[in-house]
Amino acid sequence: MFLNGKSAIVTGASRGIGRSIAIKLAQSGASVMINYVSKAGAAEDVRDQIVAAGGRAALFQADVSRFDEAAELVNAGLAEFGRIDILVNNAGITRDNLLMRMKEEDWDSVLTVNLKGAFNTTRAVMKPMLKARWGRIIAVSSIIGLRGNAGQANYAAAKAGLIGFTKSVAREVGSRGITVNAVAPGFISTEMTGKLSESVKQKMLSEIPLGRFGLPDDVANLVSFLASDAAGYITGQVVAVDGGLAI
Ligand code: NAD
Repeated sequence: MFLNGKSAIVTGASRGIGRSIAIKLAQSGASVMINYVSKAGAAEDVRDQIVAAGGRAALFQADVSRFDEAAELVNAGLAEFGRIDILVNNAGITRDNLLMRMKEEDWDSVLTVNLKGAFNTTRAVMKPMLKARWGRIIAVSSIIGLRGNAGQANYAAAKAGLIGFTKSVAREVGSRGITVNAVAPGFISTEMTGKLSESVKQKMLSEIPLGRFGLPDDVANLVSFLASDAAGYITGQVVAVDGGLAI
C-alpha cells in the first residue's frame, strides 16, 4: 500500500489502460477520481470494483479536450479528496489515415484530445501541486511518438508532443518536488487496438521480442511505480513498456 494517503486523477479511466491504472493505483492505497467522457456505466463498474475491494474512488464526467471541463475535473478531485497528488493523462483517441486522405478534423480532434487534453488537466493541477510541494504527473504517450507510423501522422505528432511537454514541465517543477514522466506503451490489447486488422496484428506480433501483446496491467504496473515515492529521483523520462518492440 505504498500510495496510502495519496489521491489521483486518471483521465479516460472507464476502460482499457486507464481502467487498469485506476484499479492498480487504488490497490496501492490511493483514492482515485475516475474521469470518463461518455460511458457512465463502465466508469461506475470501475468505481464499484475499487470500492468492493476496500478502496476509495469517485467519478467525474469531463471532456478533457475542453479547458473548462478539465479544470472542473481537477476541482472535483480537490473537493472529494482534499488534495491531488497524482495526475495520469491517459485519455486518447485515434483517427488513422494516410496523410493524403487525412481530414482536417481528424488532425484537430487527435491533437486536441491527446495533447491539449494533457495541457488542460496539467495546467489545472499545477497550483495545488506546487502548493503541496509533492506531485506525480504521468502522461500515457506511445512508442508511435518515438518511431512514427504510416497512417498515424496525427497520433504520432500528438504523442511526440506529449514527450516534449513532459520534459519541459519536468524542468519547470522539479525544484518543487513534482516529477513529470511519460510512459510509451507498445501494442496493448484494448478496444483501441482491437479495431486493427488481423494481418496488422500478426505483423506487430512478429516484431515483439517478448512474443506477446501487452496487457493494460503491464502499463498500470509501470505507472504505479512512477507514482510512488520510490520513483522520486526519476523525472522527464519516457519509459517504454512494449515487450521490446521499439528496441
Ligand atoms: P481506449 O480507447 O480503450 O481508452 C481510451 C479512453 O480515453 C476511453 O475511456 C475514452 O472514453 C477516453 N477518452 C477519449 N476521449 C476523451 C476525452 N475527450 N475526455 C476524456 N476521456 C476521453 O484505449 P486504450 O488502449 O486504453 O488507450 C489509453 C491510452 O493509451 C491512450 O492515450 C492511447 O493513445 C495510449 N496507448 C495505447 C496503446 C495500445 O496499444 N492500446 C499503445 C500506446 C498508447
